[in-house]
Amino acid sequence: MPVLKPDVYVRSVHDIDLAELKRLGIDTLLVDLDNTLLSRDTSEFTPEVLEWSRTVVADGFRVCLVSNNWHERVHTAAAELGFGLVSRAVKPLPFAFLVALKRLDSSSKRAAVVGDQVFTDVLGGNLTGARTVLVQPLSTSDLPHTLFLRRLESRILRGREPITVSKDYS
Ligand SMILES: [Mg+2]
Repeated sequence: MPVLKPDVYVRSVHDIDLAELKRLGIDTLLVDLDNTLLSRDTSEFTPEVLEWSRTVVADGFRVCLVSNNWHERVHTAAAELGFGLVSRAVKPLPFAFLVALKRLDSSSKRAAVVGDQVFTDVLGGNLTGARTVLVQPLSTSDLPHTLFLRRLESRILRGREPITVSKDYS
């Protein structure tokens, strides 16, 4: 199903080709937190992720975290990264993405949704009309229902390997 297919599949946010996104007119990133920027089993960002968050802002991207989580942890994380936050997002429903786009004064055509799950981030991003970038999860530890969905994801992604330097966003 096309709505379950990411436009790009990379190993981590560090492999996202920011210049290519810019070339495609994308200046807005709606980014998942858990297992995309922050491993489920820790509350500390790696120095590389902190550096990435500074880089995207310095590159002129508008960024908002969109998380299904609502614990204090996500608020602390957003503050630490200097990003806006829409929590309790109920992804894959598109409403939280639309709220984030409105806050950033942007639109779905200018946005890429970045996340580690097909059934929340990719599906939600595609339903919103944004580009979708799937990353590999930072940790294999996750919520029980997520671990169940991962088995379905691996079928959807069958034969598809993450690319190190992303090319085909179109
Ligand atoms: Mg996630």
